[in-house]
Amino acid sequence: MMRDETIIIGGGPAGAAAAIHLARRGMPVRLLERQAGPHHKVCGEFISYEAAHHLKNLGLDLPALGAQPIRRARFYNGEQDLHFALPFTAWSLSRRTLDSALLDQAKVAGASVELGTAVRKLSRAGNGWELTTQKKLAPVTQRAVRSAKTIFLANGKHELRDWQRPLQKETEENARFTGNLFIGFKMHLFPGNLHDWQEAVEIHLFDGGYAGLEPIENGVVNLCFLIRQEIYKTCGGSWPEVLRWLADTSSHLRLRLAGLTPLWHEPLAVAGIPYGFIASPADAVPDLFRLGDQAAVIPSFAGDGIAIALHTATLAAQIHGINGDSSAYHRRAHEDLAQPLRAARLLANLLAHPQGRNIAFTVARLLPALMREKILSELIMRTRVSLPDELVAGA
Ligand SMILES: Cc1cc2nc3c(=O)[nH]c(=O)nc-3n(C[C@H](O)[C@H](O)[C@H](O)COP(=O)(O)OP(=O)(O)OC[C@H]3O[C@@H](n4cnc5c(N)ncnc54)[C@H](O)[C@@H]3O)c2cc1C
Repeated sequence: MMRDETIIIGGGPAGAAAAIHLARRGMPVRLLERQAGPHHKVCGEFISYEAAHHLKNLGLDLPALGAQPIRRARFYNGEQDLHFALPFTAWSLSRRTLDSALLDQAKVAGASVELGTAVRKLSRAGNGWELTTQKKLAPVTQRAVRSAKTIFLANGKHELRDWQRPLQKETEENARFTGNLFIGFKMHLFPGNLHDWQEAVEIHLFDGGYAGLEPIENGVVNLCFLIRQEIYKTCGGSWPEVLRWLADTSSHLRLRLAGLTPLWHEPLAVAGIPYGFIASPADAVPDLFRLGDQAAVIPSFAGDGIAIALHTATLAAQIHGINGDSSAYHRRAHEDLAQPLRAARLLANLLAHPQGRNIAFTVARLLPALMREKILSELIMRTRVSLPDELVAGA
């Protein structure tokens, strides 16, 4: 193996996009992904306008993959509802399809992609890095030691031993949507009437969390929701009880859930998400670039985590491609991400609060439709990470 190969740990949107960018620059790159093949992930599966532009630039044809256009949003606060036209066209596609299409594209671009290979240990070795990997090849587990000059850490929400994200204290204290208090669930369902779901995302807000529903490919609807851990405990940790609890939050959600048939016996679940985390440039380690959720975790309510993953991948590849160091990358990433993260946290905190929700809904309903949509689009744009210049030209 070439000594100056860049190794990317993790094959989600951040890792796969970085592999494509580096390979396109003619740089030797190897991506290690612990999952052996396409898999589902807890996610609202909402692809923002910005994410869609990155994906197009990476060679993905969203409509050809079956992605559904999303042009409208329906918000519910208990029995109140508000309907908006989105200020852009967004898309929705299952993460299983999206992530594997990106990995395929990385191979096409010339990156070496190794699936089913988990990195167990990462340590400094001289001027570079040494990695211990583990691959399950039934009936044996193969261990190997590799070396690289540069590491892109794109392992998402999972922490790598000795290289955990340095979480700031304020993340835990200030964010009402603190991941440690919440569990995220995802379930795919068949709708009784697909027509109800065309081009619309639905957000149901309630005390203790929120639920998002939207159509994805193949006539399926994705349900993704966050609830406080104590609600899960009150439901005895039982999925049918959690669904019953969810249906009781409003007559709208009850009606919705009654018209949907789950495709899986059990949902996917995730806990301990450090919403509000942003990697500080002061913590930058030479030759180690943190991408995606390893760089920043935006409240999922904002629906822009994938765009952040793709944005940081673009930046890291650009900076590494001109021999820039990881501190230059982390400074730039922090500059780009701090404001959208702040805005998303403010919005999430406001809407997590019953009074905040009631005031927001009452004011929005009093406003003339045009002004309401203008304010909403302004709010949404504040939670967005701007497109890099070369993509703005093509947007
Ligand atoms: C409840 C919820 C809803 C969300 N909804 C949306 C949404 O609608 N729209 C949106 O844009 N964002 C959403 N997000 C955020 C989005 O899912 C993430 O921001 C995005 O997946 C980050 O991409 P990533 O590549 O950094 O990490 P990931 O997608 O998590 O990918 C990391 C990869 O690394 C691999 N890996 C981990 N450890 C190792 C290891 N040691 N060795 C090798 N491989 C490893 C994993 O298997 C995984 O494939 C949501 C998040 C949550 C929690």
